[in-house]
Order: sequence, then structure tokens, then C-alpha cells
Amino acid sequence: MPDAPLPTTCDVLVVGAGPAGSACAQTLARGGLDVLLADQHAFPRDKVCGDGLIPDSHAALRRLGVYDEVAALALHVSHVRCVGPRGGHVDVAGTLSVLPRRTLDHVLVRAAERAGARLLAPLRFEAPLLDGERVVGARLKSAAGLHEIGARWVVLATGAVPQALIAAGLCERHTPSGVALRGYVRHEGMAGQIQQLQMVWHPRLRGGYGWVFPAPGGLFNIGTGLTGSHRTERDGARAGKGRKQAVNLRRMLDDFCDIYAPAGELMRNGQLQGEIKGAPLRCSLGGARWSRAGLLATGEAAGSTYAFSGEGIGKALETGLLAAEALLGGRDVPEAAVRQRYEAALHRLRPRFELYDTASRVNQYPWIADLVIWRAHRSPGIMRRLSGILEETSNPGHLFSWRGMTRLMFE
Ligand SMILES: Cc1cc2nc3c(=O)[nH]c(=O)nc-3n(C[C@H](O)[C@H](O)[C@H](O)COP(=O)(O)OP(=O)(O)OC[C@H]3O[C@@H](n4cnc5c(N)ncnc54)[C@H](O)[C@@H]3O)c2cc1C
Repeated sequence: MPDAPLPTTCDVLVVGAGPAGSACAQTLARGGLDVLLADQHAFPRDKVCGDGLIPDSHAALRRLGVYDEVAALALHVSHVRCVGPRGGHVDVAGTLSVLPRRTLDHVLVRAAERAGARLLAPLRFEAPLLDGERVVGARLKSAAGLHEIGARWVVLATGAVPQALIAAGLCERHTPSGVALRGYVRHEGMAGQIQQLQMVWHPRLRGGYGWVFPAPGGLFNIGTGLTGSHRTERDGARAGKGRKQAVNLRRMLDDFCDIYAPAGELMRNGQLQGEIKGAPLRCSLGGARWSRAGLLATGEAAGSTYAFSGEGIGKALETGLLAAEALLGGRDVPEAAVRQRYEAALHRLRPRFELYDTASRVNQYPWIADLVIWRAHRSPGIMRRLSGILEETSNPGHLFSWRGMTRLMFE
């Protein structure tokens, strides 16, 4: 933190400088508002993630004017490779790339600063300041002590860890909707050999999937994730909705390396960079209220990650943009109208999330991946539909329903 005294007021205080917070702060600052962007970590900072950028991320990065900067740093890939339990695969075309979050998030924070937002970090949100029921700012903590910052609006973009949501009175479910674990491995011999975002389904990974994503510089992001699981052996957390089981993600990663040769080769003969780390996910626009008087929740704090795949950077950016657009609607717009506009915009995203919720059946019943792969090889129409889902140009909600799968067998 700079030694200068902290500001005591602003138009909007955005808490959390991940993709959602930075997108929101940049847009608000470009709109002429006085914006403070606070994060508990100094930047650049790491964030546990698969680092895969799918088409919705690319579209949002363009809107934020940082696409070229990200494209120059990222590794471009042209397909998602879906590998089924029997070892067959299908490559689904898409606008895709990989960039470690330490770099991506720093690009986004700097863009917000260039637009005029002031970054305050490390500074941790402790609690909202209240005037009656209305949020009028926040109490934040730095190494120097506690600070109060008054704001016309607070935007909470604090990701999947629930503490800030709980303190702000928005949290409806403390447990995450998924958990995932990743490590970085450097393997010069494998560089160039894996050219897709590879996702692997198998009965030993039931409830989730394993991935290998190639990153720039001979680096690979390798991991396993579980969606709809809300209990780990380590934390013993109570499950919310969905399958309740004890999960050891480290064992799941070992299983992944057993069943998928490229993963095994990377972990056995590559050099692990840093620690293997896990993190929670909040998915399907659930688990928290999206707003209260004076405050909006955005990004993964509002559940903006896709349940099936755990991808959430794109929708974090998009929901951050939506929060900013609602706030920029006009200085004299009644507060209720701002909240209504924001929540209506999130509701409009629901069909996308519902599609990914339905698709998460593949995680529970991995044999579905074999079926889809087998049919996709015989049907250009199915390939086009899969690519359309990924690119968000179509939304065939029925594809992963039981009815849709019966049709898959015979069409
Ligand atoms: C293992 C794993 C793999 C994943 N892989 C992918 C992938 O390949 N592609 C993809 O698109 N998505 C992936 N995701 C999901 C993706 O990481 C999230 O959807 C995305 O980070 C959400 O962005 P956000 O801005 O909402 O939150 P975050 O990125 O989590 O940012 C939240 C920010 O808030 C700050 N913060 C939190 N609490 C406080 C506080 N009290 N005070 C101040 N600051 C605070 C944090 O320091 C952080 O900087 C993965 C997730 C996991 C766990």
C-alpha cells in the first residue's frame, strides 16, 4: 500500500480485482465515475485456475480493449479435445487460448487503472458500512489498521470464497458448488505436442473431469475438478445441493495421471512449478443474493462460473460489465431501478447456465462422453452444435437432456 492516506469517499468501491472487479472498475471509470478498486492481495498475484480462455472470455476482453495485449501474451489453441472413458476423442473448434492468471489479471487491473480507477491493495474488505439497511461504504483492513471508505455504491467481486459475501449479508450457501485443483508443470519434450484444451472424463474421475491445458513457454496447467460436490476429506464441509461424497482431489489427480497417459508423462517426467493448489467454485448463478440496497455482487461471488466445465473467467468479465452498465444508467436513476436492471441482465444469462447445468450430467455419467464422441464422429451436425455451444452462437438446451441423448442415439 502507498504511504499516502487512503481516500475516504468515492462514487463506487469495487472490492476484488479479479476479472469481474477489474472489468467493472474499468467500465465505471471510463464512464466518468470516481472508482476505487480494493483487493486483499498486491498485484501481480496468483489465482488458482485452469487458465483456459474460452470464446466468451475473448469477446469480453475485446469489449474491455485488452484483447490484443492478452493475445500477445497467451498461447492460442484452436480446439477443445474431449476424451471419453474408452479413450476416443473429439476436437471441438473454438476461439481459445491459455494465459496464467497471474499475468491475465494483472493486464486487467492495469487497464482499470489506465481508465482512472485507483487500485488499493493489499486491502481486505471486512464489513459493509450501513445507514439503516442501505450499504454506504465498507470497512477495510490493511497492515496499518482499519479504514472506512464511504461510497454511493459498493460492488462485491470477491470470487468463490464466501467470507465477504457472508459479511455483506448476501450469502445463501456457505459451501461451494465445486472444488478443483491444479499444478503447473514444465515439460520441454511435450511442448507443442498438446495443442488443444484437453478434457478427460472417466469413471475414476466421476463427478468431474481432468484437464491438461498447454500454456506459453513449455508450461502445462494440469488439474482435476469436481462439480456438484460439496464435501472434501480435508475440510469435511457439509454438502449443499448435489452429490454428497467425500473427495480427495489429490487422489483424483493421481487417478487422472494413471488413466491418461499425457497427464502421467507430465507429472512423472516434467518439472512441477510451485505447489499444487485447490480452490472452490461458485456456479450456476446460485448461492448468494445478487444485490441489496447500495451493493451489487458480481462475478463468481454471484455464482457466475459454469457448472459443467468450471469455466468462469468469461462470465466473470461479462457480469462485471453488466454491473457497471447498471450503475452507469444515469446518476439520477432510482436505486431500485439499478438493482432491477442488473438482476434482469443476470436473469437473461440463465439459459446459458442451465445448458451447462444439464451438461454436467457428463461428469456424473462419464459414459455419456463416449456416446457423444461416437455420434459426433458420424454427424457433422452434432460437431457444429458442440462448437456452437462453445462459441455461444447457439443454445441447443436439449442436447444433454435425457430426451436429447435418446435422440443422439438415433438421429
Ligand atoms: C482449479 C480451477 C480451475 C479453473 N479453471 C478455469 C479455466 O480454465 N477457465 C475459466 O474460465 N475459469 C476457470 N476457473 C474459474 C475461474 O477461476 C473463476 O470463474 C474466476 O476467477 C472468477 O473471477 P472473479 O473475478 O469473479 O473472482 P476471482 O478471480 O476469484 O477474484 C476475486 C478477487 O477478490 C479478492 N478478494 C476476495 N476476498 C476479498 C476481501 N475480503 N477483500 C478484498 N479482496 C478480496 C481476491 O484476492 C481476488 O483477487 C477455474 C477455477 C478453479 C478453482
